[in-house]
Amino acid sequence: MSFAMIDLGDMDGGEVLEAAIEIGLLWWFFYVVLRFLHGTRGLAIMKGVLVAITSLVLGIIVIAQTLDLNFSRLTVAGGYLLQFMSILLIVMFQPELRRGFTRLAEAGGRGARVGGAVDLDGIVQSVVALSRDATGALIVFEQQTGVFGLEDTGVPLDSALSGPLIESVFYPKSPLHDGAVVVRDGRVVAASCMLPLTDDPRIPRNLGSRHRAAIGVTEESDAVVVIVSEETGTITVCRRGQLQVMSDGAELRAALVAHVPAFASFDAANDKDTDQAQESTPEPVEAA
Ligand code: ATP
Ligand code: MG
Repeated sequence: MSFAMIDLGDMDGGEVLEAAIEIGLLWWFFYVVLRFLHGTRGLAIMKGVLVAITSLVLGIIVIAQTLDLNFSRLTVAGGYLLQFMSILLIVMFQPELRRGFTRLAEAGGRGARVGGAVDLDGIVQSVVALSRDATGALIVFEQQTGVFGLEDTGVPLDSALSGPLIESVFYPKSPLHDGAVVVRDGRVVAASCMLPLTDDPRIPRNLGSRHRAAIGVTEESDAVVVIVSEETGTITVCRRGQLQVMSDGAELRAALVAHVPAFASFDAANDKDTDQAQESTPEPVEAA
């Protein structure tokens, strides 16, 4: 690594082409990495790391230029640091990398595959039943951004998602009823999970920790969370840190279809089935 300025006039055509290809490849690499991390917590960490490294390198270049030094030892150390940073980045972004490779492997077929297995109407009915009984519930539907790590705070399940399962987990005498259920790819991966609470001071004081946990997890990821209040029975959908109160099961169903791609594909597949069978669509679920 030399801090001498590059004089374009000294470069022949081949070198300019080589430099252009190198710059192009670097751009492409950063573009792919940033697209990959878009909307994840990793991106925020990455930005911080990049800002820190860029400021450090710029500072060293300015000092080197001003004092006319070439920092040979720093250059060697920089080389080692770069290798160390590459390993550190792989370790730091391990969950994102795992998620990204899983997505690549699924090659876009994710929504359709999950949709076929998920019984949206059964789940809506169960959430409405919980609401009617004012049984508290907290269900996290993971989306593109992984919520890896959350399930480690709870009890692993790995069961097919169904209405009866949701009702059983949140049944007040169930040992798993406290905390949140995490749903990934149509399966309940864990129950009794602890979510990060929001620290947003603007949240009204009357909202307790269940609602704050839903806001917290959706501030950090693109997950969609369904909350049933044990105080009021109110069903609320939370995404992007915003709570939206549902007036009835039909509204909850519509919100899930709109915001959870797996449910959208279930809905589309069902519409097709009913069209083919010349049947009417199922009746909307009654409000709590
Ligand atoms: P509700 O309207 O149901 O009373 P709330 O927003 O007022 O909800 P609390 O009364 O504090 O919240 O709810 C407590 C319940 O919320 C706990 O028993 C637990 O099941 C759940 N809960 C609290 N904190 C978390 C958390 N960090 N992650 C997951 N679940 C949580
Ligand atoms: Mg409460």
